[in-house]
Amino acid sequence: TGCGSKSEKYMIATDVTYAPFEFEQNGKYVGIDIELLEAIAKAEGFTYELKPMDFSGIIPGVQANQLDGAIAGISITDERKKSVDYSNEYFDSGVAIVAKADSTLTGESDLQGKTFAVKKGTAGAAYAESILAKYGAKIIYFNDTPSMFQAVTSGNADVCFEDYPVAMYKFKTETNPELKVIGDKVTSTPYGFIVKKGANAELLAKFNAGLAKVKASGEYDAIIAKYIGK
Ligand code: GLN
Repeated sequence: TGCGSKSEKYMIATDVTYAPFEFEQNGKYVGIDIELLEAIAKAEGFTYELKPMDFSGIIPGVQANQLDGAIAGISITDERKKSVDYSNEYFDSGVAIVAKADSTLTGESDLQGKTFAVKKGTAGAAYAESILAKYGAKIIYFNDTPSMFQAVTSGNADVCFEDYPVAMYKFKTETNPELKVIGDKVTSTPYGFIVKKGANAELLAKFNAGLAKVKASGEYDAIIAKYIGK
């Protein structure tokens, strides 16, 4: 296409290392979000370019109009609804507390004076920040999920806050998991696809229409089963 021509290709951001939703496998980007977007785009006949980036840049990038949309295990929160529009929800999730596999911590009530590891800009970070003063805890920020988990493995932090399905996928796919979830989920928040608030209604409508189609066709269930099981 020539200079100045209007491209029909959407620029869609995603996270970098967020299995089972988006991650690299044999040099290819895979995961529930990746395959779901692919199936929806096919069903609705739109094209897009995937832009993997650190999670903390995604919502600001959508707000600044540098991105048309994003799918990155993004929790639907009232705070974010002030700056982005969400699609219909496509996956149930929530934040869990993660500690070393041999930890004696049993849940949130044991967090007095502990050190929290969180990933910048996430719902897990927001939750940790909300209980920080109550427990007199310390907080350390990371750019991605693997470095956050590593902080707990190495003992630099006592616990980290990550979405339950992401934590569980990691532990289930490891032979000797060094970490575990402690206690119950502390929040319950589904995921949605996002666009800039008030700015991209047609992409949102295509996502919602496509989501309904791939649910009806069984493709949605097949994608979930492939990564998580039934
Ligand atoms: N679900 C969390 C959030 O929306 C984390 C998403 C992510 O790290 N990709 O903040």
